[in-house]
Amino acid sequence: MLFGLLILSACRLLAPSPTPDPTAPASGPSTSRPSPTPSDTTAPTATATVTRSPSTLTPSGPAPDYDEALRRSFRDDDEQLPNATRYDLDLTLDIEEAAVSGHERLLYTNAETVPLEALYLRLFPNSPSYGGAMTVTNLTLNGQPVVAVEELEGSALRVDLEPALAPEEQVELSLDFSLALPTDQHPAGSREPGGGYRQLGYYDETVALANAYPIVPVYDDGWNVELAPSHGDAVFSDVAFFDVTITGPAEMVLAASGTCTSSLEDGETDTWACVAAPMRDFNAVLRDDYRVESEDVDDVTVKSVFYAEHEEGGERALDYATDAVRLFNARIGAYPFSELDVVETPTLAGGIEYPGLVVINTSYYEGGSQRMEWVVVHEVLHQWWYSMVGNDQVDEPWLDEALTQYCTLLYYEDKYGEDVASRLLESVFREPYRQLEETGNDKPAGLPVSAYNSGEYGTIVYQKGPLYFHELREEVGEEVFWEILEQYFEQNRYRIATPEDWLAAVEGVAGEAYLDLYETWIGNQ
Ligand SMILES: [Zn+2]
Repeated sequence: MLFGLLILSACRLLAPSPTPDPTAPASGPSTSRPSPTPSDTTAPTATATVTRSPSTLTPSGPAPDYDEALRRSFRDDDEQLPNATRYDLDLTLDIEEAAVSGHERLLYTNAETVPLEALYLRLFPNSPSYGGAMTVTNLTLNGQPVVAVEELEGSALRVDLEPALAPEEQVELSLDFSLALPTDQHPAGSREPGGGYRQLGYYDETVALANAYPIVPVYDDGWNVELAPSHGDAVFSDVAFFDVTITGPAEMVLAASGTCTSSLEDGETDTWACVAAPMRDFNAVLRDDYRVESEDVDDVTVKSVFYAEHEEGGERALDYATDAVRLFNARIGAYPFSELDVVETPTLAGGIEYPGLVVINTSYYEGGSQRMEWVVVHEVLHQWWYSMVGNDQVDEPWLDEALTQYCTLLYYEDKYGEDVASRLLESVFREPYRQLEETGNDKPAGLPVSAYNSGEYGTIVYQKGPLYFHELREEVGEEVFWEILEQYFEQNRYRIATPEDWLAAVEGVAGEAYLDLYETWIGNQ
């Protein structure tokens, strides 16, 4: 019964209208407390004395064993990335205050070919679409106090480096931060209502900690620091190593990127120790009544984490996720991590992808929703296109979104056959794009998120974009198309891929005769 589906849901857009009910009983914690005070990072810039090249983070406990986060046959992967940033995070959740206090130490290596005169940190909770409030204090650079400069409405901190950081040199940053989470209830004017897609916050008794720590952005021809449009994904980051400790109420169940172990400290609080690598972000979600079902695929433990009352939905999510992992492990390349979590949350997106963890809108878990399969598979396939093969989600969103959408169709074709897939191709991609064309508002699919309004973004990137991959498959043939996907994956795993990298895979496997298709669908026509 897959026909007639209105399958439009994808990450970060087109949620199935789970409109908050303003008459619903209050369920969140009180958030009436003083507004966050301005950070001491807003003071005029001062230059730190830079002591060069600490080779490792100063030990604060046992060395993290990142191998635990990797499948047995991929445990050398972390050793191939000696220049990846190392994060050491301690997060303490105060559930009554809907707040997180954190300590972060990070070791950053200049992996570029040019000296860096500054290092940036992104404070995404301060972005208008997140609705949180993050304040950084006690910032040190190689052990010396340093003052950073706030930019972009407090969502970026610039740490000047004098002298500039030479290629291959390292710096160690240390800082404390406090994070006020947006919630169901909030005093007028103190926080943004809604918090965008509710990727971050304390809503419906669920704590979601997406991008809840200062993140180093990507440097390519400069630092990628910008305020992303609220209708697209905001984070653009390199793979890194995460050693994370989270302390929170003992009654809560935690799901997080990577692999975590729990040690009950006392009757009231629990501490989870998590390692994740090489991953380009870290996310954690907590809730009292989460239930967990899991299944091993190859040696990946796929976990479905769902509200206790949604057992049927939770089991379906697990089935869809394991089917997707099994297919793409075999056809594209292996998911290298030990664990993948599929987590029900009150996000207002259909679903959102993070490395090692995807969140799925709670409304799909009720009433046997047929949309759930598309959304779960789409988000799971982002582990290949976004998590493992990274891309600039802000400026080149088609590279992960359109490819993920088309690969979702390939999943349906593999599982349900060609007739089902061809009907979905028509209803999910062709027909909505045809309707857009009739309005005269067609645009290339390869533009930045900012070039589209939210409606155009959905139709052009998520519905027109996949048609490029379909046309390419029609022209090169089934076998060659899968080979292109394999090549693109293998050549760009743990890297940031660009459209040129995609075209290199196409040309390398199929020859240059097919490059014109790119101009027709993706490039500027
Ligand atoms: Zn997506």
